[in-house]
Amino acid sequence: MSSRSTYMDYFDLSHDEYVPCEICGARGIQVHHISYRSHHGKKTLKEQEDITNLMMVCYKCHKDIHDHNKYRRIDLQEIHDVFLRINCPCKDI
Ligand SMILES: [Zn+2]
Ligand SMILES: [Zn+2]
Repeated sequence: MSSRSTYMDYFDLSHDEYVPCEICGARGIQVHHISYRSHHGKKTLKEQEDITNLMMVCYKCHKDIHDHNKYRRIDLQEIHDVFLRINCPCKDI
């Protein structure tokens, strides 16, 4: 399963549905791994593909993350944690 389908399934979204970029709210088109694959040994593949590590972003923000180092990983994690808390499909949290 792709990271995107993991994400869409978690939020129970259909594939043509509008998904906002978690940073700026524009249309999210790519899934960013908060802990990158290149950070060897930090996380297992399963942990990398967990919803807590998958962040929906638009093309521009994704470029800012990777090409311009605009965000620190810890800040992205924080943004994502808040996003998950607000949008959690499970009511217990
Ligand atoms: Zn964005
Ligand atoms: Zn990325």
